Amino acid sequence: MIPISTVRLDERAEKLALDVIRSGMIAQGPMVQELENRFAHLVGVTHAIAVNNGTTALVAAMQALEIGPGDEVITSPFTFAASLNAILETGATARFADINDDDYCVNPHEIETRLTEATKAVMPVHLYGQCADMPNIMPLVERHGLALIEDAAQAHGADIEGRKAGSFGIGCFSLYGTKNITTGEGGIITTNDDRLADRLRVLRNQGMRERYQYDMPGHNYRLTDVQAALAIPQLDDYEHTVAARRRNAARLSAGLSEVEGLRVPSARPGRGHVWHQYTPRLTAFAPVDRDELVAKLSEKGVGAGIYYPRLVFDYDCYREHRQVLAEPMPVASALAQQCFSLPVHQHLSESDIDTIIDAVREVMKS
Ligand SMILES: *Cc1c(COP(=O)(O)O)cnc(C)c1O
Repeated sequence: MIPISTVRLDERAEKLALDVIRSGMIAQGPMVQELENRFAHLVGVTHAIAVNNGTTALVAAMQALEIGPGDEVITSPFTFAASLNAILETGATARFADINDDDYCVNPHEIETRLTEATKAVMPVHLYGQCADMPNIMPLVERHGLALIEDAAQAHGADIEGRKAGSFGIGCFSLYGTKNITTGEGGIITTNDDRLADRLRVLRNQGMRERYQYDMPGHNYRLTDVQAALAIPQLDDYEHTVAARRRNAARLSAGLSEVEGLRVPSARPGRGHVWHQYTPRLTAFAPVDRDELVAKLSEKGVGAGIYYPRLVFDYDCYREHRQVLAEPMPVASALAQQCFSLPVHQHLSESDIDTIIDAVREVMKS
């Protein structure tokens, strides 16, 4: 089976983790600091604050911005549940703006029509490793005095004309096991705002600035040094990781772009896509439906995934939630029926890519 994602940590990670274990200081310490320095460098910002996962990165970012009950946050309907759960956790209300048909990210015009007096922040999701339309979202956010929280959980190192995801507003990244860089569980927040960075560091540590001096009610959002150690070699290698993912995406597209009934994904001009997922969609001419296709690929040893089978709020627990303002989202709803993701990660061989292409072609012929 060719898996949709795979984790390989080498001797460098083993050695660093072992060093931490032997040091006897395994909670947040110098290795977390090292991870933060390197991550800030990757994103091109002055501050990176490591936390225990990507969901708490989003929650902490909103808490630091003092977003809470009565405030509205506009996000994408086509995302992982964490984006929505984080908004609900703060007590704020979630509104949704439909996505674009090409980049699968939130459409700035749709955001504009959903602004209200209560709107406090916009949370674009840089889906599958491609930045949302920041050139059109930034001016809108500035014009209306809103906060900008980037859900960059899938977009480590993605950019628009060289400007990195997580440097447009306040960036929230995940370091979960399936993400482009991983510590098993982990998250990291990026910002150029000194005051916000300071608040986040205090918030992460029970609201404590110095021993038993509490500035604000906080939480325990800390990452451990053992986890941080795992990410250091991955950051060293990350340029090669992205290059391999880009190469794999290009090969998949070369092999699949002519297949009848299939539309391959693409990056918009000027956007550095980091291919967290490679996600084609079926068109009306496809001879199979999406779920059937995924099942048949699995039979052929290709681990395809569906991200995401439904809109994020399309579950009873959210539809009936008083902090969720659900509306029809035609573009995202169509995509949820048609999309599927193929393996694109850096550990694939050329022959793996050929196997994937052959399998898709065969199923699409039937
Ligand atoms: C993974 C992910 C998150 C949450 O990250 P965790 O580390 O799993 O908490 C948030 N948003 C998106 C879009 C994600 O893919």
